[in-house]
Formats: sequence, structure tokens, C-alpha cells
Amino acid sequence: MPPLARTVSNTRESVHLPSRQAELLAETDVLVVGGGASGIGAAIGAADAGARVILAERYGFMGGCATAALVMPLMSYHTQHPEPRKAGAETLFPTDHGASNGPVISGVLARLVDRLVARGGALPPSPETGYVVPFDPEVFIRVALELLDEAGVDYLLHSVASGVTGGQSVNGVVFETKSGAVAIRSGVTVDCTGDADIAAFAGSRYVIGRDRDGAAGPMTLMFRMVGFDRERFMAYVRAHPDQWFGVHGLWDLMREATLRGDLDLQREDILFFGTPHPGEVSINCTRVTGVVGTDVCDLTYAEREGRRQMEHVARFLRRYVPGFHDAYVVQSGATIGVRGSRRIVGDYTLTADDVLEARKFDDVVGRGAYPIDIHNPQGPGTLLRRLPPDEAYDIPLRCLLPAGIDNLCVAGKCISATYEAHSSIRAAPICVATGQAAGVCAALAAREAITPRAVEVSSIQQELTRQGADVRGIA
Ligand SMILES: Cc1cc2nc3c(=O)[nH]c(=O)nc-3n(C[C@H](O)[C@H](O)[C@H](O)COP(=O)(O)OP(=O)(O)OC[C@H]3O[C@@H](n4cnc5c(N)ncnc54)[C@H](O)[C@@H]3O)c2cc1C
Repeated sequence: MPPLARTVSNTRESVHLPSRQAELLAETDVLVVGGGASGIGAAIGAADAGARVILAERYGFMGGCATAALVMPLMSYHTQHPEPRKAGAETLFPTDHGASNGPVISGVLARLVDRLVARGGALPPSPETGYVVPFDPEVFIRVALELLDEAGVDYLLHSVASGVTGGQSVNGVVFETKSGAVAIRSGVTVDCTGDADIAAFAGSRYVIGRDRDGAAGPMTLMFRMVGFDRERFMAYVRAHPDQWFGVHGLWDLMREATLRGDLDLQREDILFFGTPHPGEVSINCTRVTGVVGTDVCDLTYAEREGRRQMEHVARFLRRYVPGFHDAYVVQSGATIGVRGSRRIVGDYTLTADDVLEARKFDDVVGRGAYPIDIHNPQGPGTLLRRLPPDEAYDIPLRCLLPAGIDNLCVAGKCISATYEAHSSIRAAPICVATGQAAGVCAALAAREAITPRAVEVSSIQQELTRQGADVRGIA
């Protein structure tokens, strides 16, 4: 195979762009940019709070990582039981989430999960099957549109945000579209782009990667295999409990395949997730390091490298792993999954201690119980650190407000958090929760014609509670 080009960039020059006009397409109270987990939460939260809402998305469908990148299970949004379930247990699949005292996120997330389950597109969390929620991304796409329609949200697809109007006091966003440049004027904007694009356009400070060297989390191309024999695979899992930790496993077989030159990967184990369909498995295993999700050359390299690794893994599974003999790749992500790129510097930055000590804040607008889960940005290894049993941490409103920027809230995986805390808050259910909180905050600010920072936090908490969200204690 020819060596992969890491970049097509071969000059350091720039070109001058002429100034131009954009069609003013619409005016709205709340503009949400990005239709992933957080954008869905934000748009529904804002609409339920009475705002006129437009949700703009660059792809032709909603879901972001959950659909475009095929990140098919929702990680647990329940408290952790003191005794994590051991590998090979009689669950749907090996899973590291044992019993729980209940969910710590409800609201829009509960609506989403209930509807997915009702459509046959997800398995509900339960003590029998565990608290990771596997879902079908096709059903997710349709359900997301249904929920947005029911909430009265307008949406615009195929629209890539490329700038803001109003500078640090954002009053609109410019989009590149097939119709040319269009602008939407907004009372308040919610940045749910996952990369904090809007905040960056407005001049917000941000950080990327870890403090000591800026290394960002690895990217992963997710894929689904079908024609898979679950019974044979589970028999193998049960017979080799020493080969599993939760959903991670297959160490010996992977070592053997690597020694024989049949596998060339930057990680030592494979994460398997069941799906709602018995003959299907979702695989989280490719690992592309040294790349940043806001660099187009890195993204180009990562897509190519992710597909090369996927081919290796699929071949390895077919040759070495019971149950996979006749399995084949039916779909890979339309885009590689980016765990994290920009994180805004907000009025408060959530830390690993806040997460691990399950800290509480007066301005709580969402909660999380998912562990610190750091995928090594430079090679093999994953660090998992859990919260105390039956505990959850608070996410303060201040993490959603970019310092020095007005009329803008940020939600999802790019809120203000350290590299370590980010590895917990990026779980999709928590992104829905911060989205809903940001949407409510934006709606209340737009209604009063004030900046989000000036909204009374108690009124946001009251509205979130009215919407069924959980801001104070186990739901
Ligand atoms: C490989 C991988 C595995 C993961 N595993 C799990 C897991 O098993 N379970 C779990 O719960 N979480 C998992 N996560 C984390 C979780 O999936 C994401 O952090 C979460 O879904 C992010 O939601 P978000 O809304 O913040 O961002 P995204 O899902 O990235 O959504 C951002 C949206 O904004 C759009 N957008 C971006 N830029 C623009 C722009 N300029 N203009 C217009 N639209 C734009 C994008 O198209 C996208 O739809 C994983 C993440 C990755 C990458």
C-alpha cells in the first residue's frame, strides 16, 4: 500500500477574499447551530420554553456523532453500582455497567430514548441488559426529526456555518449553502457544533487537547458488521472471562494476530456493542492519533487511515474470532468520529475533581454520572476512573457561557471543561442534557431581550424542571 499523505498543504500563503453579501434568510429568537445530541436537546428545550427556534445543520440529517459517525450506543446515564458487572455476564453483551439507583438525566433524553424504544430502534436500559442503550441510527434520524417537528422547531439542513455577525455580541450566523451565503439573525445563538465553531468565530478563547502538550483525543471510524453469530460469540466470551473487562476484550487473540502480522492497530483491545438487531454488532476500535478535528488536512488523513484500520479489524475478526466467520462490514461512519477538538474557556471550567468527587453547584443545569474515560491520544491504552457509587456531578450554567462573549450559549462536547473532565461530559446523554439547558437559557434570554449571563439561574432551573429535566437529585 502506498504511504498515506498526512497533508496536501504545500504553501504558507493566503489569498484575499472580496467582501460579499449574504441573503438574510430568517430571523428567530433562538438559533441552534449543529443538530447532534446537544443540538437536538437545545432546539427542543428552547422551543418548549416558548421560543421561535431554527436548528441549522451541515449534513442532510440530524444526530451528529450518533448517526453520521455511527456512535450507536448511548453510554450509561445512570449512577454506578458499587459492584460493576464482571465481563462475560449474561447480559446482551459484555458490559461494565452493573445495577443502578436510577437515571441522572431525563427531560429531552428520556423522550428520545422512549421514542426510540417505541419504534423498535433501541433497547431500554434495565438491570438485565445493562444501562448502555444500543440504538439503530436510521431510527434515530427519523425519531429526531419527529421530536423536532412535534416541538415546533424549524430546521435548515445542508448549511455550514462560516461566520457570525455582531462580533463578540453575536446577533446572527452566516452559512455556506448550495444557494450561496445565507444569514440567520437571532436573539440568542446556541453553539452545538461539537467544535465550538460559532464561539471561535465570535472570538471566544478556547483550548484543544491536554494541557501538557495539546494532544487531542484519538479519532475513531466506527462501523457495523452483520452476518454475525451472537450465540457463538457469547459462548466464546463466557469461556474466556479473563479476556474481557466490560466491553473491552480479545487481548490474546489480538496479540497473536499482531505477532503474525495479521493486525496493525494502535490499540490493544476491541470495544463491541450490541445493537437492537441480533445479527449485528457495532465496533469501536480504529484509533487515529496525532490529529485535530478542526484541521482539514488532519481530517482527510484520519478518514483514510480509519478505513485502512477498519479493513484490518474486519479481516482479523473473520479469521480469529468465533461468531465472525461469515460477518461483513455493512456500514461505516459517513465521517470519522472526533472525540474532542475545541473546548471553550467559559465562566467556569469543570475539572476532573468536580467529576470524581461528584461536586454540587448552585447554578446546576445538568448532571452526569459517566466516568472519566480517556482514550490515549498517543497510542494504546484507555484510562477509566469512576465516580463514587450512586453519585452524580453537577454541571454549572457557567460552563455553557463563553467568557467575554454575549448572546451565545455553548452545549455538548465543547463546553468549558478540562481535558480530563471532557472525557466524561462528552458522553451523548450528557450532551443532550447540556443542550437542553443551553436551549432553555437562550429562550429565556431572548424573551427578556437580555444576554444569557443575565438570566436568573433559578428561572432556568424551574423551566428545566417543568420540562422534566433533572437538575436536583435522582430523577
Ligand atoms: C468514536 C467515538 C465514540 C464514542 N462513543 C460513545 C458512546 O459509546 N456512547 C456515548 O454516549 N458517547 C460516545 N461518544 C461521545 C458522543 O458520541 C459525542 O461526544 C456526542 O454525541 C457529541 O454530541 P454534540 O452534539 O456535542 O456534537 P456532535 O454529535 O459532533 O454534533 C455536532 C453537529 O454539528 C454539526 N456541525 C458541526 N460544525 C458545523 C458547522 N460549522 N455548521 C453547521 N453544522 C455544523 C455536525 O454536522 C453535527 O451534526 C463517542 C464519540 C466518538 C467520537
